[in-house]
Amino acid sequence: MSEFKRYNSVNQFFREKFGKKVIKVSLNGGFTCPNRDGTKGYGGCVFCSEKGSGDFAPEKQKPIEEQFLESRQRLSKKWPDAKYIAYFQSFTNTYAPLDYLEDLFLRASKLEGVVGIAIATRPDCIDEEIVKFLAKLNKKLYVFVELGFQTSKKESIDFINRCYENKVFEDGIRLLNKYNIDTVVHTILGLPYESKEDMLNTIRYVSSFNIRGIKLQLLHILENTALAKIYKKENFKILSLEEYVDIVVSCIEILPKDIVIHRITGDGDKKILIEPKWSLNKKVVLNSINKEFLKRDSFQGKFL
Ligand code: SF4
Repeated sequence: MSEFKRYNSVNQFFREKFGKKVIKVSLNGGFTCPNRDGTKGYGGCVFCSEKGSGDFAPEKQKPIEEQFLESRQRLSKKWPDAKYIAYFQSFTNTYAPLDYLEDLFLRASKLEGVVGIAIATRPDCIDEEIVKFLAKLNKKLYVFVELGFQTSKKESIDFINRCYENKVFEDGIRLLNKYNIDTVVHTILGLPYESKEDMLNTIRYVSSFNIRGIKLQLLHILENTALAKIYKKENFKILSLEEYVDIVVSCIEILPKDIVIHRITGDGDKKILIEPKWSLNKKVVLNSINKEFLKRDSFQGKFL
């Protein structure tokens, strides 16, 4: 863990692994989602935006080579020496026939400066054949899978319309572990009607498995989502900055030190963010979290 940070941050992890700054570049692989088309469910998860929770991903009409080049040209001005992770973020990035996935991810592995591939998906959309292929690719460059989990609480799973049970997540983790593929689990803090204890329970649950990383994502209410409609109707409580800071630090205090933290706030598109507006000032959020660590004289895994 870094001397200056009180938690195991992804920037530090990538620096140690690759020896330089590594930037994730969102690519659009042209996927959809089985939780929208009726295969697993209809309507999608209530918080999911029109772009499938990938609001910074480029348009899917362009080939990934072109998408990548555009991002790289922009990023290399600021970080000429950086390396890149090709990040398949929007929708469900294993929801396609195996030959489509093989072609796409192999092409991604050949992009100039790419040292890794991150694949965001649902645990009910990976099978042994897909994971075997990822394991082969993992020998060539770093491959990791990000699983959208959000919460372990039964009532919240129904509320968000996740459309898979916790058991499916457990099977997915075991399968990825079997082939030594690193997993990063997405959780959401601040889901409607969840208490701080509910959120801590989710963290205890996910960290009881062999996971490599975690995203602690503040709930964002975005325009044109089912959640926005529910919010207008029910006006459920949303977290204040102070509450969020308390919760996120408490979550990190019960996370094992070797779990890499990929996110501790939110990255919503400000054009479509309804609430919490305070999250737009990322610098203030990050400073407040750091101050809270200092105030408590605390760090990742303190209470384990
Ligand atoms: S969050 Fe993921 S699983 Fe849920 S609807 Fe959006 S793309 Fe599908």
